[in-house]
Amino acid sequence: DTPTLCSAGKAPFTGVPGTDKERTFIAIKPDGVQRGLIAAIIARFENKGFKLVALKMLWPTKEKAESHYADLATKPFFKGLVAYFSSGPIVAMVWEGKDAIKTGRVLLGATNPAAAVPGTIRGDLAISVGRNICHGSDGPESAVHEIANWFAPEEVSDYPRSLDEWIVS
Ligand code: ADP
Repeated sequence: DTPTLCSAGKAPFTGVPGTDKERTFIAIKPDGVQRGLIAAIIARFENKGFKLVALKMLWPTKEKAESHYADLATKPFFKGLVAYFSSGPIVAMVWEGKDAIKTGRVLLGATNPAAAVPGTIRGDLAISVGRNICHGSDGPESAVHEIANWFAPEEVSDYPRSLDEWIVS
């Protein structure tokens, strides 16, 4: 199924992986919100040069958490993961830019904060895999799927920034 076109009418609102219009779904999980890390996490992505194109706070239902993590349904930690992800509000975002999906994962750091290198979000701000404060799409297919799963087309803004030419060549 073809995603609805964004407001500029040129690209799907889920982005175009492999181009400067690549988009990724990034979420600050309930522990990140509770710990007051919203601004710190957003700053990492802003300072890097990525463009924020969608942002909202929402409290995931158990069902929504299950569908978000459906790929992990057979894992022993699945039940706890669903309880964790639906335990409070999250901040859901879409970030845009060259290699946003892969580089977004680099900014987050390894899934297990114990192995995440200092300088990354998880490496600097978390210690436990079950409380790793953030989520980021792990590939082009999941990025498109997750953006469409959490956002409606009209919630994603397509806008130019005059500084873009100073960030990407
Ligand atoms: P990522 O979030 O880095 O894409 P995964 O998709 O492998 O990592 O796992 C999804 C989430 O499940 C992790 O971010 C983490 O919150 C949780 N998780 C992964 N492995 C474990 C584990 N061994 N024990 C508890 N929770 C885990």
